[in-house]
Amino acid sequence: MDFKEQLGKNSRIVFILNKMKKSPQRVIVFEGGLKEERALFGKYWACCVNCFNDKGPCLECRTCDDILNLRFPDVFLFDGDESSIGIELVRDIIREKNIPPREGKYKVFLFYEAQNLTLNAANSLLKILEEPKDRNLFVLMVPQKGNLLPTIVSRSVVLTLKWQRTQIEKDLSDVISHLVRFWETGSGLFKLSEKKMEIKEVEQIIIGLQAMLVDAVSDEQHHGNLNFFKKNLTSQKVWQISFFLEQGLFMLKSNVSPRMVFEWLGLNIYKILKMNQT
Ligand SMILES: [Zn+2]
Repeated sequence: MDFKEQLGKNSRIVFILNKMKKSPQRVIVFEGGLKEERALFGKYWACCVNCFNDKGPCLECRTCDDILNLRFPDVFLFDGDESSIGIELVRDIIREKNIPPREGKYKVFLFYEAQNLTLNAANSLLKILEEPKDRNLFVLMVPQKGNLLPTIVSRSVVLTLKWQRTQIEKDLSDVISHLVRFWETGSGLFKLSEKKMEIKEVEQIIIGLQAMLVDAVSDEQHHGNLNFFKKNLTSQKVWQISFFLEQGLFMLKSNVSPRMVFEWLGLNIYKILKMNQT
């Protein structure tokens, strides 16, 4: 799906961003969608506030083009997908944020997969976010806002991208239904994982579950599996499940056997869902 198509699918968010650009929010969180889609919206927002076209970012001028290709001198990228985002990177921001924008109207600091901020880094970032409005803007991209410190979320405008109901989900809807049945009844998990499981498959299951979490706490229409999830969730549980899903992805990257990751997640989420609400 190309950039323009992607924007069209989330036209509500495009509308909000274009409204906001006159007096930009200091911190925006993009959740939902796929990793690449969140990244696109981060860059789109940087275009919104820096393109000199009044009607909205043209996506064609030199400024827009440089931003989209990440070579604009006032856009900074911290990519949690490559490694965790640690305190030393936040120190770079502290140095940079006091220098006025070089070419653009605003400096934009993008954090891809911000769930991989270390706790130290997240806490120092929080202090920066608390500073009064200036020409620095921050954008955090996460699968689900529960991945971030609640104190960061409370200072942000959270925008939820639509989950792309693609082939992945159709292919995996069977596995996910079985998984949900296991969480309801407490049996059948190991039957599911008896067959050979590939890394890619377990990764997609995790992404599917992240999407379900986003939908379960938003006002999207609900159906079958989601109703179960919604009934059994508290914000504490959403936070815990998000945490385990992230750990699951990390384990896959570290070459833990996909089947083991699948079972570990199935059991841990079962425990969370069964815990008495406190
Ligand atoms: Zn432009």
